[in-house]
Amino acid sequence: MVTFHRPVDLAEALQVRAETGAIPLAGGTDLLVRHRNWAGTLPRIDKPVVYVGHLQELRRIDISGNGSGPQMTIGASVTYSELLDHPTTPQLLRDSIIELAAPGLRNVATLAGNICNASPAADAACALYALDAEVELAGPSGRRRLPIAEFITGPGRTVLNNDELVTAIHLPPDNSTVKYYKKVGTRRANALSKLSLCACARIVDRTVTDIGIAVGAVAPTIVRDRDIEQHLQNTATEQVALRIPQALQQYAELIRPIDDQRSTAEYRKHTALALIEQFLTHELH
Ligand SMILES: Cc1cc2nc3c(=O)[nH]c(=O)nc-3n(C[C@H](O)[C@H](O)[C@H](O)COP(=O)(O)OP(=O)(O)OC[C@H]3O[C@@H](n4cnc5c(N)ncnc54)[C@H](O)[C@@H]3O)c2cc1C
Repeated sequence: MVTFHRPVDLAEALQVRAETGAIPLAGGTDLLVRHRNWAGTLPRIDKPVVYVGHLQELRRIDISGNGSGPQMTIGASVTYSELLDHPTTPQLLRDSIIELAAPGLRNVATLAGNICNASPAADAACALYALDAEVELAGPSGRRRLPIAEFITGPGRTVLNNDELVTAIHLPPDNSTVKYYKKVGTRRANALSKLSLCACARIVDRTVTDIGIAVGAVAPTIVRDRDIEQHLQNTATEQVALRIPQALQQYAELIRPIDDQRSTAEYRKHTALALIEQFLTHELH
């Protein structure tokens, strides 16, 4: 038997969470699978559950912005299908969602669920790393906001407190001119990543002015390294090739995959480095 709370608004959801430590439930596509039981029986969850998928405060997509482009605020309970329908959703995020699970699941599953699950193989989270997303949390002492790389601290671990909820994901304007998304999985649909690469860059007057490279499923958390990126920034496109060997050497140190049922560490490392090389060699022109 699971105690199930269906609060009327965010304030009540936070109150339930603070008073009972109830586990948040959005689409349930991770949570209910994690707690699945014998076939034909209900999931077994030893704590109360608080449903947040219907809360209006978390179901909004807001667009704001200044001269540099639209900023997106994506409510925690917005589904993947709604994001695919929205004209402002950045192409890199869109590409990661199109290959995530299958349409029926995307009708209920959420970005917030993907990042709170904190799997290093989380596909949408990988795009959010490359896009400089920030996570907004609410709790009894108010709201706080932090970069996604600070929100996720390890496999299955985040800084979310027991009395907090994720309320939104913030995306700064996406001014990239190059986008590159590659997911390596066993099938085209309903397959978790063996590894993935989400990368974007801005090229102005044949110079790389900005770059973001995130690699999924190759380390305890998604890999993104600002120092390596800085070394590639402000480089004329025809000079990028000179910097690739050093960048690959640095990524080789950060990419520390494991063997599991989906792939081997050796395959993951080899393929991740090959994809980074392909992006740097063939996309930045
Ligand atoms: C068949 C299948 C295929 C899949 N394929 C993929 C895939 O290709 N790529 C991929 O990355 N994932 C995949 N997944 C995993 C899953 O669908 C995603 O991670 C999804 O984004 C989870 O979202 P959800 O809303 O269902 O989360 P839930 O299951 O509802 O929750 C997941 C976690 O987030 C927490 N949570 C949810 N909302 C909040 C909130 N507002 N505040 C705080 N905590 C919250 C929950 O407590 C739980 O710990 C697949 C799952 C299935 C079953």
